[in-house]
Amino acid sequence: MAPIVRRSVSLKALNSFGVEARAERLVELRDAADLPASLALLREHPPALVLGGGSNLLFSRDPPGTVLRVMLAGRRLLDERAGEVLVEAAAGENWHAFVGWTLELGLNGLENLSLIPGSVGAAPVQNVGAYGVEVCECFDSLDAVSLSDGAVRRFDAADCGFGYRDSVFKRETGAQWLITAVRFRLSRAPRLRLDYGELRDELRARGVTSPGAREVADAVCAIRRRKLPDPAEIGNAGSFFKNPVVDRARAERLAEAHPGLPLYPGGSPATAKLSAAWMIDRCGWKGHRDGDAGVHDRHALVLVNHGHASGAQILALATRIRESVRQRFGIELEPEPSVV
Ligand SMILES: Cc1cc2nc3c(=O)[nH]c(=O)nc-3n(C[C@H](O)[C@H](O)[C@H](O)COP(=O)(O)OP(=O)(O)OC[C@H]3O[C@@H](n4cnc5c(N)ncnc54)[C@H](O)[C@@H]3O)c2cc1C
Repeated sequence: MAPIVRRSVSLKALNSFGVEARAERLVELRDAADLPASLALLREHPPALVLGGGSNLLFSRDPPGTVLRVMLAGRRLLDERAGEVLVEAAAGENWHAFVGWTLELGLNGLENLSLIPGSVGAAPVQNVGAYGVEVCECFDSLDAVSLSDGAVRRFDAADCGFGYRDSVFKRETGAQWLITAVRFRLSRAPRLRLDYGELRDELRARGVTSPGAREVADAVCAIRRRKLPDPAEIGNAGSFFKNPVVDRARAERLAEAHPGLPLYPGGSPATAKLSAAWMIDRCGWKGHRDGDAGVHDRHALVLVNHGHASGAQILALATRIRESVRQRFGIELEPEPSVV
């Protein structure tokens, strides 16, 4: 079967910022059997951009070459031993629907990651994380195809080089991989992660004293619906900047110079994570608007499209924010979404 190829396609509805960009060629990959033909098209019309749900991307211009939209579907339980369960989902599955399916099966592990927009295939790309959990903690392995030579490879967690909102798939500029399926190791027994104060407060407010994974997922969804702007109402890609990780001595000097600057664990005793939102807010950006490109009025980390902003305008605003944080705090902010 031949893959579906469309020419000169608007990507406005395919990115959560809702910015206009046109793909010269858009290949819709719905069936793994179409992979060889799709890869041939990518090689014929480079460069290639792999697109999932478009919720962690900013199109600052029209992407050249070919956009490959991953729409592979399917999920299955592969193995169960001593309460540990291996499940697999194709890359094009909707992440939140997949998490809901694992909960229906009575599986524990992904509940804190409920309601993150996007696809299963993109989840390992930036090691998605929320409410004290990162996806690498339940990750088993993934299958990927090299866009350059079609080689198929299985990656385990060590191969993926997971870090904070990071993996080899985000870092590597040379090799480009198309993730086709991801496997997760979940458990029948609860392994609740309630370190996040806001989550504990929400459960308490709901009168839940001994929560299971379902109650935790419901609480996470309630907090997210209350707190985060819905891309269907206002274009955004969630947090636009990562929280910078710096060495602990430097973080403590900064906190002394700027009382109130929140410091979080940095992943090792020698490091600390700084609150990017706090620094951006201190630079006066919360609620700021440059035409239709803006900073959300309740979330300094979330850049928004009030309607007709272009990706270039949002990027220009992000650049001004980065410059002001650099000048005031000497800290380089790094964007979380991929900028095309
Ligand atoms: C309102 C909102 C809230 C969010 N909250 C969170 C949050 O709490 N935590 C968090 O971590 N993220 C969050 N995000 C960011 C986003 O949801 C995640 O990064 C998500 O995993 C992106 O999935 P996607 O399918 O939309 O990826 P896309 O935006 O389509 O792609 C993102 C990157 O992954 C690559 N990619 C996508 N699919 C594949 C594939 N199959 N193979 C290889 N590369 C691929 C793309 O080329 C691109 O570089 C939020 C976004 C929004 C809009």
